[in-house]
Amino acid sequence: MIYTCRNENCGGIVEGTEVVTQCPHCQGPMQMTSEEKLNGLQWTLLGEFWSRKDDSKSLKRSFYCFQRASMEGEPRGITSLGIYVENGWGTEKDEEQAFWIYQQAEEYGYVPAFYQLGCCYQLGKGVEVDLERAYTYFMKAARFSYPLALYKVARFYEEGVVVERNLNQAFSCVEQAMDQGYIPAQVRLGMYYEEGKGTSRNLRKAFQLYEDAALQGDAEGQFHYARCLENAIGTDYNPWEAAYWYEQSADAGYVEALTKLGHCHQIGLGVEMNLERAVSFYRKAITGGSTKAMRLLADAYEYGLGIEKDVEKARYWRKLAGMM
Ligand SMILES: [Zn+2]
Repeated sequence: MIYTCRNENCGGIVEGTEVVTQCPHCQGPMQMTSEEKLNGLQWTLLGEFWSRKDDSKSLKRSFYCFQRASMEGEPRGITSLGIYVENGWGTEKDEEQAFWIYQQAEEYGYVPAFYQLGCCYQLGKGVEVDLERAYTYFMKAARFSYPLALYKVARFYEEGVVVERNLNQAFSCVEQAMDQGYIPAQVRLGMYYEEGKGTSRNLRKAFQLYEDAALQGDAEGQFHYARCLENAIGTDYNPWEAAYWYEQSADAGYVEALTKLGHCHQIGLGVEMNLERAVSFYRKAITGGSTKAMRLLADAYEYGLGIEKDVEKARYWRKLAGMM
């Protein structure tokens, strides 16, 4: 059964077997409806409702909803459909098809679709890599202050790709993206302050930006926050807090935090020294592609730290790290 919020401006929509009388967004009354009555936007919202659940059945339903939204010509639904096709969520993965779908949404002037097309050109998804086109699309979306696009444009300025390197410009773009509430931009801005890029160096400010991102649950922010605590950057040295935040970040899937957490266990920084645990963290980080962890594991093999000494294996891991 599908229920929609009676308050037209709310857009609350829920589907399930249970009767829903109260809107989860505005607490207003809900009414039962049927698929035939849904318009494009409602199909999109229903797709988003299902996309918040993480099982394959929900993904399939979500994909179906975005298909229906697309048939109604609803650009937000079309763009989501593209993302699903690009990633193979609830359907077969097909990057060329996804690229074509984004182009359809572009026809409606839908800003996030410009951004998606930029990503396609940047990464060669469904189309040949073309950094100039990528930049053009990111700029097109950035003009509407679309935060993800501002963040991308900043990287072009920072690295001097396609455009001339301009750190002040990069700083300004990242700052605008952050003002839109985009957390990765906030972490990036922290790095700019830490390194004095496009602005004067301000370690305290960097620390505060990382801290705020960390508290909002951003894994990369948690990593940098922990790094500051470990190395007394813009704050006092606090190994216990550092180890805690490395762990939070590692739990959230940030690979370099796993490496760091392993190192904390190896030297007893903020945690009890435990060489076996250190090695198991390095192994996990290696699975995630960390070359730093490969080198640390090589050391562990070389000196027999938490693992049986094995010079051959030490050499193997060092060589592999060097190749990547
Ligand atoms: Zn509502």
